[in-house]
Amino acid sequence: MSERIEVGLMGATGTVGRQLARLLAGHPWFKLAEVGASPNSAGRSFREALGEVDDLATILDDEVLESRLKDTGDEWSSTLLLSALPSRHAGPVEIDLARRGHVVVSNASSHRMDPAVPLIIPEINPDHLALVETQGWPGALITNPNCGVVGLAVALAPLQRAFGVEMVSVVTLQALSGAGRQDGLADDIEDNVLPFIAGEEEKLSREPQKILGRWDGNALEPAAFPISAQTHRVGVKHGHLLAVSVMLGGAASADEVIEAFVGFRGAVIDEKLPSASAPVIEVLDDDLRPQPRLDRERGGGMTVSVGRVRPCEVFDVKFSVLVHNLIRGAAGAALLNAELCHVCGTTDRTRVR
Ligand code: NAP
Repeated sequence: MSERIEVGLMGATGTVGRQLARLLAGHPWFKLAEVGASPNSAGRSFREALGEVDDLATILDDEVLESRLKDTGDEWSSTLLLSALPSRHAGPVEIDLARRGHVVVSNASSHRMDPAVPLIIPEINPDHLALVETQGWPGALITNPNCGVVGLAVALAPLQRAFGVEMVSVVTLQALSGAGRQDGLADDIEDNVLPFIAGEEEKLSREPQKILGRWDGNALEPAAFPISAQTHRVGVKHGHLLAVSVMLGGAASADEVIEAFVGFRGAVIDEKLPSASAPVIEVLDDDLRPQPRLDRERGGGMTVSVGRVRPCEVFDVKFSVLVHNLIRGAAGAALLNAELCHVCGTTDRTRVR
């Protein structure tokens, strides 16, 4: 693939959008050509909207920095559009763009659980991309999971394969950047932990089963295990830490569970995706790891770190999981999905109207 294809980025000025723009700088397949933001920012140059503190201005091409931010309703010339829109706005906008022939790869939660919309982590369920054939639009809509869900699903995938999963309990400690730009949050979190994140427990309880579900060529059967989730916001910049307990389908020692994590290889197709990390999971043999500050950048932020794997007094096994919420949990996840769409030909079969 010698010629880079042009892509558009919606929500380019937000927390995830900026991270996506950073990952797109120098990407071997994609060239950031169009950017969009809210109606308040539309018409300003991307450079002006980024402001002086963001180092993106030093790594992006002048052409895109000088381009005017689009409103989502404007015409977009790129077939492939990455969406970092707030979920409250993404719903109708993303469907409309797929109807207009765009392949929309979205971070937003609006359509993740729609039966015809694939919710993909390429190392786990690239075959679910076939769901787009049931959408009936000239374009397509593909989603990546909630940031904490990525860490949980990646950790559960090898256990499901090796032993089966019967039930899961997860308690999260989630970083500030996971909230996007939320007024007053920095003050609320100082010397504090917030024991509620709106909508987050529902996502952690439902999304993994769709990702770990079985596509038989006609229908998607979600995995059957229940998940009990409790979420907390903590004063960490980036990196969600999850305390996970799992009841397995068959007996396994802690060492066998570690072996399953270490041996986990993504689906073959990942080898070809530039943003895929190797290893997918890194097991850390130190009681004090993983830690957000020390471990979130592993594999360029794409590796999921697992530690403290030990027998559980109530379930079978318990362990800690760390996921970089902005990279593996959001921008990197969307980019990996865009790469999957490209390599599978999803971006070739559409025509922008
Ligand atoms: P954010 O920092 O609040 O950024 C939102 C972006 O959307 C900004 O570019 C904003 O433009 C734009 N926007 C706001 N209202 C709009 C509208 N009516 N029409 C078009 N654009 C609009 O949010 P974020 O944290 O980056 O999250 C973006 C999406 O990713 C959300 O759906 C979120 O749930 C999801 N996500 C976030 C994370 C994370 O760790 N942060 C992880 C996984 C998924 P202006 O600058 O003009 O306001």
